[in-house]
Amino acid sequence: MKIAVIGAGLTGLRVANELKEYANVKIFEKNDVGGLLSSFCRGYCIEKFYHHLFKSDLELIETIKKLGLSSKLVWKTVKVGFAVGEEIYSLSTPLEILKYPYLSLIDKLKLAIFTLKSRRLNYEEFDEISVISALKDNFSEKLLENFFMPMLKAKFGENAERVSYAWLLARVAIRSNRKLKGEEIGYIRHGFKQLIDRMAEDLEIVHSACRIKREGKWSVNGIDFDAVVFTAPLPELRDSGLNLCLPEVSYQSSVCALLSLKEKLSELYWINVDRAVFGAIIEHTNFMPFEDYGENLVYLASYSTPEGWLFNKSDAEIQKLFLGDLKRFGVDERDISWIKIFKAKHSSPIYEKGFLKKITPYRVSDGFYIAGMTSRPNYPERSMNGSLKAGREVAEQIKRDFGLEKS
Ligand SMILES: Cc1cc2nc3c(=O)[nH]c(=O)nc-3n(C[C@H](O)[C@H](O)[C@H](O)COP(=O)(O)OP(=O)(O)OC[C@H]3O[C@@H](n4cnc5c(N)ncnc54)[C@H](O)[C@@H]3O)c2cc1C
Repeated sequence: MKIAVIGAGLTGLRVANELKEYANVKIFEKNDVGGLLSSFCRGYCIEKFYHHLFKSDLELIETIKKLGLSSKLVWKTVKVGFAVGEEIYSLSTPLEILKYPYLSLIDKLKLAIFTLKSRRLNYEEFDEISVISALKDNFSEKLLENFFMPMLKAKFGENAERVSYAWLLARVAIRSNRKLKGEEIGYIRHGFKQLIDRMAEDLEIVHSACRIKREGKWSVNGIDFDAVVFTAPLPELRDSGLNLCLPEVSYQSSVCALLSLKEKLSELYWINVDRAVFGAIIEHTNFMPFEDYGENLVYLASYSTPEGWLFNKSDAEIQKLFLGDLKRFGVDERDISWIKIFKAKHSSPIYEKGFLKKITPYRVSDGFYIAGMTSRPNYPERSMNGSLKAGREVAEQIKRDFGLEKS
């Protein structure tokens, strides 16, 4: 049995690992192995886009363990906050939240109750409700403007208003795993590249984009296969030469700058920033030790659309815009050792209202499968954990469909 896997991101690597003992598996990857989780190396390796995990990411934690990386998995309590104007406020502890001047005590209480309640709600029931209308019904204008909008803009940029309430509820629930000193998140010390490298070991990866055809059998780049598993973003399907009847899913794009700063900017890991080209500042070396890198590493993160104004600008223009907004925090070009811009055209589906109906089934046609960011385990927020789970589940479906047994 011959299986083609399109894409060597976490989903594709997982599918291939699950099926390699049962079939002859070939992966086609048009860009970097690791996809959105690929890294940039300069003596050390760091993800092109910031990444961390949560204690609830059981599939990912299990994979890390199976691949012998448990001793590298570290959990840290990090500080998070908001930037208002030039001022950065830590909102990591109950006391800091109480002192935050831009919300009333009533709003803070409402926020605490909402956080506790969100853990118990079935967020799928809120899929058809727009986040903005739900927030307007439940909270004051001030809370919306000073708390929720910066958070939504940091994650969805200009698409913030399209998002479903289900996304927000799930997000708040997952991020409410707080200790008194802040939020606890995890990382593979010295980088997720170690995970990608171990997953890619022993796999046959063809470095090429793919043309998919159905002429009796499935064929990818002229080679016949019994089954094809497509793990790339859905718009790539059309570019691969295939026209399937699938729901229209809108994607957002990511533009991230990675900078080396001569001095650290703050003590916080994550700062939501309002009214700037980037929506968040993520100080990686306030999470992982400075000694691992020998420099202060900071991401500036922004989300746009593939057609959006920011995504289509040149790296030099993006750099100029980002640095322009960084000036308000007292950082100018002389404070920066180097800067790199990373872009991902389809970095996440937009979890707009009604997204549940757009989830793709694993088997879409005889011998043709789709898994990845539009699969059920990635609803209502895509994640490393969701992609690993989708990869395992689609492999199980293929084994059932083809009655595969270990050879
Ligand atoms: C800015 C940012 C921050 C993130 N932070 C976190 C985080 O902190 N925690 C977390 O859990 N998740 C995070 N994620 C999400 C996480 O990275 C993804 O959910 C996960 O890596 C997706 O894996 P995937 O394999 O499903 O998709 P992808 O990584 O998109 O893999 C698809 C692969 O297909 C390839 N491909 C595309 N078209 C073709 C083609 N025609 N032919 C061949 N190959 C093709 C692509 O090059 C890519 O390698 C973040 C993502 C971004 C963008």
